[in-house]
Amino acid sequence: MTGLSVGAATDVGRVRESNQDSMLMLEDLVAVADGMGGHNGGEVASSISIEVLELAQRFVSSEELVDRIQEANRAVVDRAEDDPSLLGMGTTLVVLTLVVVDGVDRIVVANVGDSRCYLHDGAKLVQITKDHSVVQTLVDSGRITAAEAEHHPQRNILTRALGIDGRVMADTWELRPVVGDRYLLCSDGLYGEVSDLEITDVLRSEPDVEQAASELVRMANEAGGHDNITVVVVDVVDGEPPPSDGSGRQLDATLGESWAIRAVSEMTEEPDPTDAGRLEEQPADGGETPSEPDDGTLSDGGEVDEPARESFRPTVGSRPPVASAETRGETRGSPGFRTVLFVVVVLGVLLGVVGVVFVSARSTYYVGFDGSEVAIFRGRPGGILWMDPTVEESTGIERDEVPTSYLDELEGGKEFGSFAEAEEYVERISSESGEFSARETEEDSVVGATTTTTATASTTEAGTEPDGP
Ligand code: MN
Repeated sequence: MTGLSVGAATDVGRVRESNQDSMLMLEDLVAVADGMGGHNGGEVASSISIEVLELAQRFVSSEELVDRIQEANRAVVDRAEDDPSLLGMGTTLVVLTLVVVDGVDRIVVANVGDSRCYLHDGAKLVQITKDHSVVQTLVDSGRITAAEAEHHPQRNILTRALGIDGRVMADTWELRPVVGDRYLLCSDGLYGEVSDLEITDVLRSEPDVEQAASELVRMANEAGGHDNITVVVVDVVDGEPPPSDGSGRQLDATLGESWAIRAVSEMTEEPDPTDAGRLEEQPADGGETPSEPDDGTLSDGGEVDEPARESFRPTVGSRPPVASAETRGETRGSPGFRTVLFVVVVLGVLLGVVGVVFVSARSTYYVGFDGSEVAIFRGRPGGILWMDPTVEESTGIERDEVPTSYLDELEGGKEFGSFAEAEEYVERISSESGEFSARETEEDSVVGATTTTTATASTTEAGTEPDGP
């Protein structure tokens, strides 16, 4: 019988006004969710995902956990559809729980986004989860180094999150519960401030789980506390004995395949036909994996004496689960879907063409609401990209002065490739404000608006006085 001891701490940090992280701390089920989205969207998204998880209490398999994560995703999406002010909200989710596989206890870790789970085995710290972020993709493709990723300006841009699309792909790992192992779940507010070395020191030296969690939060605050910080520390206090000679597990700080019993990216819903063949799928019965190795990441098997172990199928390079604009064509043109489509297509662009996005995201501006006032932000609307857009310029235009035809766009955040274009757009709003022009925006322009070209609406300046005679 496996026993876990759990301690946790969370803090708003020293910069943010609210704590949009949420966490769950039950006996055998812990989770951290880091919400994003304007207004209080982030808080709502993260707490919904935690609530849905909490209702389940217990899971019999990693598949059931993934199903639940799908439900959580759906709950966030539904809520955003009910409340336009929450549109674009999303959340990460990292979960650790116990399941029984063939009569044996297993620890299951599941992840979506860039909150993380680490394992400290008394000597070494390894990162179990892999961030679903643009910089991780860049690292994987060899375009930047891990060290560069740490300070990369786009390190907060996610490629997966709950609440963005009707389905989400979660990565899961199954591990043996070894007495003395210590797991750490955290939001990026911790690892963005505190180095792996410092984290290791605390996990090694502080025996009490509560104290260890509090100490890590304190250190993140001391280092600046630029983001909300959430830390959950889990000790395996009862379980399998540690391997006496250390040969049972090869903790490898770079990739988890040698210690994970099973690691797989799972999606419970049917993939789009367009995705078929690109998603690596694990045999559902948990049986022997067909003999051919996927690639070089499979260890030769000599190192690890783990008969139950299945192959690790890296999901790097598999197609992201979010449908592209083309596959979502059925929604195109339906009135009322404009903003949703906007979000979906932007995400599709993001996931599909990371390189392009990377380039374009360096100098992206958008116009949206800062409270009740229209403002030009640097960055991207918070629902998709996690880079804390900053207000570049306040315009003094209040929400109730904005022509209704602009409201949808502004709620979602209207993006531009340059500050000048954003300013031009604001000027257009400004010149039309008060007129409440009934100008219809063509549906096609929605699609146009989602690319980086800003071709939307006509240059018809309905409210301005004509120049000339
Ligand atoms: Mn965060």
